[in-house]
This record gives sequence, C-alpha cells and structure tokens, in this order.
Amino acid sequence: MLDALRQPIENGVIEIHRAGVSARFPARFQLLLATNPCPCGNHGVRGGECLCPPSQIRRYQQRLSGPLRDRVDIDFPVTRVSAASLSAGSGSLSTAVARERVLAARAAAAERLAGTGWRTNSEVDGQWLRQGPRRLPPSVVTPLERALQRGALTVRGYDRVLRLTWTIADLEGASTPTADHLGRALFLRQGAVA
Ligand SMILES: [Zn+2]
Repeated sequence: MLDALRQPIENGVIEIHRAGVSARFPARFQLLLATNPCPCGNHGVRGGECLCPPSQIRRYQQRLSGPLRDRVDIDFPVTRVSAASLSAGSGSLSTAVARERVLAARAAAAERLAGTGWRTNSEVDGQWLRQGPRRLPPSVVTPLERALQRGALTVRGYDRVLRLTWTIADLEGASTPTADHLGRALFLRQGAVA
C-alpha cells in the first residue's frame, strides 16, 4: 500500500486501470510518515534498552522501502521528548506565527515562478531546478554534487534537496538560496542519505 503512493507523490495524479477503462484523479497531498527505530522503540534511544535482534530491526526498517523514502523531502531522526523539556515548554513558534511565515514563503515562491505554470517549490520540475534560469551557482551546490557522486543521493533525492533549499530560503525571505540554506536542507535529509 505504501509503495503504491510512489506514483502520486511523484506526479500528483492517480491513474486507475480496470477492464479496459482508465481514469485519472488529482492527488496532490502532503505525506507525513513516522516510525519507531525498531519493534520495541528503544533502538538508538539514549537511556533506552533495546533487546531486538539485529535481523529483526533490519526487517522492521525495511517495511519503509528505499524508493519510498527517497520520495520524502525531509527524512529526519527525532529524539524522544523528555519530561523536563515537556514541562519547560518548547519555546517554538505559535501556529499563528508559523502560518504567517508559510503564507509569506508561498507567496514569494509563487511570485518567482510566475509564468512557469508552477506555484510552489514542490511542483517545480527537477531539470528546471538544475538547468533553468534560476539554477544555483556551483559555490552553492558543490556539497550536493559531492553527495550525488559518492552515491549518497539519487538524482531524485538531489532534486528534492534543491526544492527544500528554495523553501528554506523562501521562509527566511532570501531572494536566492545560499550554501547555508542548502546545508540545512541536506541536514534535514540525513535519514535518507546513505
Ligand atoms: Zn528494539
């Protein structure tokens, strides 16, 4: 079922073929996936004791296939929330403030992409990102090139990091991404980078 999501994630449409009839439905969505590190949930957790055998951990993690994970823009390990940090409050943005920032970032992307037929970074074609008029200079993309060359990223993953880089820049109100924006985008993909 999860791997059946690969086509709509990529194209934003679902095609169904039955008895000589085919239908196309729009399917742009935001996919959030969460998983434990192992069946007991303690593998790699500080202070946690995991008794799962390595083969069982591997089998458990393989339930999210590599090709599916490759299609997820942000793939990041999160640590367990401690009682202390819960009672201290998170100090993070309020939903209302976050919403304003997201709206401003989306507006900036839509303005930049005017005339292309795209409105958001997630829709932009990979080739356009890499070779189009707004491609990033070598001084910015070198870490990405290196990750691709050593096989740590697929071309699809490369494009996804570029889209995320633009989104991080848009969220900060920067007109064009810097090496720092790209570094942060790569950091947010560490779960999927080999
Ligand atoms: Zn375990």
